[in-house]
Amino acid sequence: MSKNFTIFGNPVKHSISPKMHGYAIKGLKLDATYTKTLIEDACKIPTIFLENFDGANVTVPHKESAYAMCDEVRGVACDIKAVNTLINENGSMIGYNTDAEGFLKSMDTFGQKIEKVLILGAGGTAKALATIFKQKNTHVTILNRSSNRLEFFKAQGIESFSWEDFVLSTYDLVVNTTSAGLEEDSLPIDKMILTKIFKNTKFATDVIYNKKTPFLSLANDMNIPNKDGADMLLYQGVLAFNLFYNGKFEEDDITKFMKKAF
Ligand code: NDP
Repeated sequence: MSKNFTIFGNPVKHSISPKMHGYAIKGLKLDATYTKTLIEDACKIPTIFLENFDGANVTVPHKESAYAMCDEVRGVACDIKAVNTLINENGSMIGYNTDAEGFLKSMDTFGQKIEKVLILGAGGTAKALATIFKQKNTHVTILNRSSNRLEFFKAQGIESFSWEDFVLSTYDLVVNTTSAGLEEDSLPIDKMILTKIFKNTKFATDVIYNKKTPFLSLANDMNIPNKDGADMLLYQGVLAFNLFYNGKFEEDDITKFMKKAF
């Protein structure tokens, strides 16, 4: 029987998820559709989802609202308190978070165990990454522009600083999860401080994808091995696809087809 999938978001026009999933559906010769659904009011998600779709992805700004409306939440999403994947399980909306695992998988290319991470930013993506790193016993530090979003992290015993009280250490990885550099050419933190941070780190990653952000350009200039967020996007999609199909396909096969979207 044909399956229907979608991505809920606002805006959603820019999303390449339909392209990624479309390549996987075609490559694996499946009978399925994957569409975009613009949602202004998150409260509409459960009804629209359960009446029309077998599975879905959720993007900005609905990940936390969708979490709160799931009939059941599984895995790391329970701690992150945000979902990016929904499964229609016999009329129940089941939520998962594949952003965090997707990011971890994308770190394999550095070929080294990451034991100490500095995360710039304290929004939804920072929560996802900090939670999964903590679960893997990786030491996490949060550094955010303001202090008002640090409570989530402090409550979990995660070392958290605002720009005012930051104390530099050494790191294996620095991740930019702020939206600085997305639409304008700004760094996520003062250049002098970022330069000091880079002098004390092995690798740098930006979760923004398909763009050389000022953060990554500075890492490049300082010869720090670095990458953007394209692989994170790819792998969260691969993991979501496998949830849609109950683990029926090899991740490598799905990856091979989804990569064509980039
Ligand atoms: P949020 O809005 O939840 O959080 C944004 C964070 O960035 C806040 O901590 C905010 O600080 C900080 N910030 C914003 N602007 C600046 C600035 N100019 N300088 C310094 N700090 C700033 O965003 P999300 O976590 O949802 O998304 C963040 C980024 O991650 C986006 O660019 C998004 O596109 C990307 N992303 C990529 C994915 C992928 O698959 N590659 C998946 C999901 C997200 P404050 O608290 O002080 O306001």
